[in-house]
Amino acid sequence: MKSGNKRIIFLRSPRGLPVPEDFGIDETAIPQPNAGQFLSRTVYLSLDPYYRNVMKNSQIYADRLSPGDAMVGETVAEIVSSKHLDFKAGDVVAVRNGWQQYGLSDGQGVRKIDPSVAPIATALGVLGMPGLTGYTGTVHLAQPLPGQTFVVSACTGPVGSTAGQVARHMGARVVGIAGSKEKCTFAVSELGFDACVDYRAGDLRGALKAACPNGIDAYFDNVGGSTLEAVTLNLAMGARIVLCGMIEAYSMDAPPPGPWLGPIVGARATMKGLVVYDHMNRMQEMTRVIGQWIKEDRFRWREDVTDGLEHAPEAFCRLMQGQNFGKALVKVGLAPSH
Ligand code: NAP
Repeated sequence: MKSGNKRIIFLRSPRGLPVPEDFGIDETAIPQPNAGQFLSRTVYLSLDPYYRNVMKNSQIYADRLSPGDAMVGETVAEIVSSKHLDFKAGDVVAVRNGWQQYGLSDGQGVRKIDPSVAPIATALGVLGMPGLTGYTGTVHLAQPLPGQTFVVSACTGPVGSTAGQVARHMGARVVGIAGSKEKCTFAVSELGFDACVDYRAGDLRGALKAACPNGIDAYFDNVGGSTLEAVTLNLAMGARIVLCGMIEAYSMDAPPPGPWLGPIVGARATMKGLVVYDHMNRMQEMTRVIGQWIKEDRFRWREDVTDGLEHAPEAFCRLMQGQNFGKALVKVGLAPSH
């Protein structure tokens, strides 16, 4: 065993895109396990986009970083020595050692890895947190039906490639979005996607329209921003959008213009489209319910009445500037006598 433990240190929150100067390096003594702990040697460190958000101390993550802390992150590691009943030296585990050569753990949240299933690094990718994200978001949230068009962005990464392949196995027609011709070729020839659109080639909206002539039934969004916008312009009726990641905005110092959808992910919220005309069969029910409340004086409203048809244009202009207070009406004629 070597004498030192090299660590990469968080120094400061990046401005815009992270730069190497945001990090430092130091070396400490290799810690020794106490009762109930084990020491492991990092074999692979996972690099995940969400670290960029942790570096700005985003509230949606449990991790907190202060300058001088070792960077946080998941690793695949081999146990070197153990005083924990469930783990022994030689075990290979997925453990949050962070960006350092050695780490102590009390076993909480640690997964033992069976190297006979797949190469151990997959425990950080397609058989780890990103794989679970792609799998569960597709099977349980996007729910593509056989023959439907499923689109996924960042489609060659661990999340996107898992989502797309799961959708393909569910019988969907899968169209990827990626940032180069080479990535797109991989998506089609290796991942088995039906098509892939290179958003850097320009006119993503048009390219998606060509690749998805019947519209997009399900979209697994890993990017947000302009990619999400281009997809929304090509949706099929009843489409589902899974907001998974918004990497386009992670390195922005201020939220991008327009509604910032990040909190929707944090709150596990659902957005649905509503067109009232789909619900006209509820008109009688609504009239009965609210009409009864009105009779019982349990329902209030307000009207903003302008007198005279000739004043309708200015009343309408007031409405569009938010200067109405209550339902905007124009009184055009006399009230009925009965
Ligand atoms: P990844 O795909 O390996 O890497 C990120 C990819 O994002 C890049 O390779 C790039 O691929 C794409 N990208 C698009 N626009 C970008 C931009 N403006 N700047 C940088 N990259 C851009 O990463 P991953 O681990 O599979 O994660 C994918 C997304 O899922 C991330 O947004 C991540 O935060 C999110 N995620 C969410 C959860 C959750 O619980 N909601 C869990 C895990 C991951 P292209 O060149 O192909 O566009």
